[in-house]
Amino acid sequence: MSEPRIALCPGSFDPITVGHEEIVRRALHLCDRVVVAVGHRATQAKRGLFPVEERMELIREVFADEPRVEAAEFQGLLVDFARERGARLVVRGLRTVADYEYEYQMALMNRELMPELETVFLGAGPRWSFVSASLVREIASLGGDVSGFVSPPVLARIEERFGGRGA
Ligand code: ADP
Repeated sequence: MSEPRIALCPGSFDPITVGHEEIVRRALHLCDRVVVAVGHRATQAKRGLFPVEERMELIREVFADEPRVEAAEFQGLLVDFARERGARLVVRGLRTVADYEYEYQMALMNRELMPELETVFLGAGPRWSFVSASLVREIASLGGDVSGFVSPPVLARIEERFGGRGA
């Protein structure tokens, strides 16, 4: 049997949103397994809204129905993690032109560092193209309703953290 084709969906996923989820599910059409890779620096593992461990737990809960999706963390270069996992594909979501400029530069740099690693971009579905984890964090911290932008397990954790909607 040939080796399974593994794609990486890297990001900070603090927390995973419905926009991320859509990209991961679409990435499954392109490969056998998707590794949702939470990138961080060791010194920043606890920074942000959720610690890295919790971000991974949430990814696992959100994809509990999908055995082909795995949550992992990595520090350092994405290309090193790709080599370690035998991945040849990176899938990134594109929302805006601003995303594109940054993403394209990063994809070119990664190609220099690891020519056999291909990056593909999936255009965000129009439904979720305005959703970002940073806005979700901001709205949640100000007591707003984020139920339209995250899945139920993530919403439950946010409500635990902020004491419920509107609190
Ligand atoms: P964010 O920008 O929301 O903090 P990350 O840094 O974790 O997210 O991004 C991980 C990947 O997910 C990136 O490729 C990013 O462009 C993509 N992404 C984030 N939000 C969305 C969305 N709403 N639709 C499509 N792709 C998205």
